[in-house]
Amino acid sequence: MGAPVTVMENACTLLTPGPLTTSEGVRQAMQKDWCTWDEDYLALVRDIRSRLSGLASADPRSYTAVLLQGSGTYGVESVLGTAIPPAGKLLVLANGAYGQRIGMIARTLGIRHTLLEFPETSPIDLVAVDEILSSDPSLTHVAAVHVETTTGLLNPVAELGRIVRESGRSFILDAMSSFGGIPMDLREIGVDFAVTSANKCLQGVPGFCIVLARPAALEASEGQACSLSLDLHDQWRTMETQGGKWRFTSPTHAVSAFHKALLELDEEGGIPARHRRFCENQVLVAEGMTALGFRLLISPQWQSPIITTFLVPDDLPGFDFATFYRWMKQSGFLIYPGKLTQVDSFRIGNIGQVDSAVLKRFLEAAEKCLFRFREQSTKPLGRERREKE
Ligand SMILES: *Cc1c(COP(=O)(O)O)cnc(C)c1O
Repeated sequence: MGAPVTVMENACTLLTPGPLTTSEGVRQAMQKDWCTWDEDYLALVRDIRSRLSGLASADPRSYTAVLLQGSGTYGVESVLGTAIPPAGKLLVLANGAYGQRIGMIARTLGIRHTLLEFPETSPIDLVAVDEILSSDPSLTHVAAVHVETTTGLLNPVAELGRIVRESGRSFILDAMSSFGGIPMDLREIGVDFAVTSANKCLQGVPGFCIVLARPAALEASEGQACSLSLDLHDQWRTMETQGGKWRFTSPTHAVSAFHKALLELDEEGGIPARHRRFCENQVLVAEGMTALGFRLLISPQWQSPIITTFLVPDDLPGFDFATFYRWMKQSGFLIYPGKLTQVDSFRIGNIGQVDSAVLKRFLEAAEKCLFRFREQSTKPLGRERREKE
């Protein structure tokens, strides 16, 4: 038998883009067991769906919310596998790992597609998108990521949406790490399908994803799905006709937690208030870390209020991320490694139940860590090191 696993008594603050630090209320909402067919549970699901439609657009009837078991990627895969007909062709716009993942899904599902790539540090180039849509009439759908969580870069979706709409194509938006944290009206952008997750800006726990779709676009996709469990149309039909029932067993505790999270979003003042908090958090972290000597990867012009990428300082002798991570964890903060293909970096997320008070403590802890690094690199050889040599 292996050694027993020890879990830290006091949980760390998660400075990650999800799963993230949830509120006491959200965690408490998981203390009860639910029957998936019971009317109380179905009423909860119906209320969640109607609240999500309200968050999607000023005209709530224009978007229907489909809840689907699994993480965010399952939602993206269900949209691609359900909405794009066999004769369709998808344009994938990628300036980071999540855009690349959309391309990977298309490849895996055998969906005809073109992958248009851009550097990780610059937004999607609208001129290039316009050009390819004009030159390839066989393209029927366009998929893009709103906030590229790889870097924290915010893509220009309003302009992109206009180009896609004017070209008569269908628009699929990965709004995973933006929906609920950045004000947007999906109808104004011209989105046909948007995908988000329970455990990002909406501050629930992991367990399911959310697709916000124009009902007509969903209607048109009937019978097209290339998967049974990820058949978005069938999932929607069942929810609509059976009073909020999911086709297969749903993550009841996560659903209950999510309902509480939506009530708390309302109490906070809705998406505009949450956006203000996230913006304040991001500025605090970016300015504080910059003052400590870290450099920003993304130009402030394209920086989202969700997560920030910092370059590992090369003028700080002895700095290494693994040690930094360990020390920060001992101080009560979980930070996020980098995901860049080109440069050495790490990320600090500022979504979830965190505010400036928490982040000030985080910055103090980070400063102490840097002090330890400096101390280590200037200290004369200690006994331990002398003995080794
Ligand atoms: C989190 C995230 C996803 C989905 O990731 P999962 O691990 O499947 O939840 C997709 N796109 C973006 C931009 C994300 O931030």
